[in-house]
Amino acid sequence: MNHAELAENFIKDADRTTWHDETLWFVRKKRDLAAFQIPEWEALREVASQIKHNGLSNMHNYLVAFEEKATANGIKIHWAIDALEHNQIVHRILKENGIAEIIKSKSMLTEECHLNEYLEENGVDVVDTDLGERIVQLRQEKPSHIVLPAIHLKKKDVGDTFHKHLGTDEGSEDPQYLTEAARQHLREKFVSRKAALTGVNFAVAETGEFVVCTNEGNADMGAHLADVHIACMGFEKIIPERKHLGVFLRLLARSATGQPITTYSSHFKKPRPGQQMHIIIVDNGRSQQLGREDFRNSLKCIRCGACMNTCPVYRRSGGHSYHSAVAGPIGSILAPNLDMRKNADLPFASTLCGSCSNVCPVKIDIHDQLYKWRQVLVKEGHVPFSKKVAMRAMTFTLSHPKVFNAAGKVGRGMMGLVPFTVSNGLNPWYKQREMPAPPKESFREWFSKNRNGQ
Ligand code: SF4
Repeated sequence: MNHAELAENFIKDADRTTWHDETLWFVRKKRDLAAFQIPEWEALREVASQIKHNGLSNMHNYLVAFEEKATANGIKIHWAIDALEHNQIVHRILKENGIAEIIKSKSMLTEECHLNEYLEENGVDVVDTDLGERIVQLRQEKPSHIVLPAIHLKKKDVGDTFHKHLGTDEGSEDPQYLTEAARQHLREKFVSRKAALTGVNFAVAETGEFVVCTNEGNADMGAHLADVHIACMGFEKIIPERKHLGVFLRLLARSATGQPITTYSSHFKKPRPGQQMHIIIVDNGRSQQLGREDFRNSLKCIRCGACMNTCPVYRRSGGHSYHSAVAGPIGSILAPNLDMRKNADLPFASTLCGSCSNVCPVKIDIHDQLYKWRQVLVKEGHVPFSKKVAMRAMTFTLSHPKVFNAAGKVGRGMMGLVPFTVSNGLNPWYKQREMPAPPKESFREWFSKNRNGQ
């Protein structure tokens, strides 16, 4: 199903749609308040964008430097060309250590690679430890947002899920009670599992260290208790120097949730004695995106989710309608790079209002890139035939004033005389709209009568 069809499913529940919209707008407003408290906010965004630009332009050097430093620190570096190789490496490390159960903190890369499914098919039990991720995992759903994975669910949904899987009282929706139940459930996993997998928010080329940001401390708890820590990162997570962390950490949490800083910003530099620490650096299409001049900036993304929270389409269509690991405006730029045909609908799931670009902490020109993707997709033949024909007809009409005037007259007449030809079940525009009364004349006709010799 494409975005429009999946969105139609989501908006069938009108109350939930409004609630989803308002909840994300609330987060967007928190972001604004946090940003406005920093006078140098715009300068910070510019610096962050430039640091990322430097990183992308000198990627090879920084990756080599990172590998050298991290290896010297006692970390084992692995390179994966694609999702399959990434998954195989994780599985191999687990097998070598005789481990068949792991815990995992939030990592959009592992969602992108479908790691959970791969490991489960190979007999490894995976427990997500981020609360939102655990909720969607128990429901066998995908995260619908990169920062707020269960934002599409209400308290009642969580209560029902926990009653079914964790044995909480039926009908209980008390967040304190449900969180405590999740805490006890996860605590047992933390202390018993021998391997922990985390994502990486920033990898520092200068020192070979990496930083993982969470609000729940679940990445730290898992990594500190486990004998084997595996950290997975797309290569774009690299930043040149440790001093640059300050710029990104100030931007990330404020943009994501309006917090001054993420509750836990944990630095990992070397394994503790007796522990193994692995980092898997993944390409999976990133080199290709780096080579696309118009889209390479999308690799600057620090996954704050602000573009989703502000997007009028995302807020009212829900994250699952994007059918890719990363939803929303940035996901609609990243996904066609991985599979143009399958994701050809996504760059069209936007009003191009530009709100996403305005809030992006690393100044990605998101709406411009969505517009450019549309042109690429049309050129590559990935839009429906009916749309192509309609656009050709529209181009002809708009470039011939006489045809345009005549079409306007015919259209106004049809709307007045036989409205069902325009407003019917086959015309999706009117599914949720009322057809306005057609004007008696066009603006052009009105103007030529009323211009009074001007
Ligand atoms: S594109 Fe920008 S706003 Fe969107 S998630 Fe990435 S960093 Fe945040």
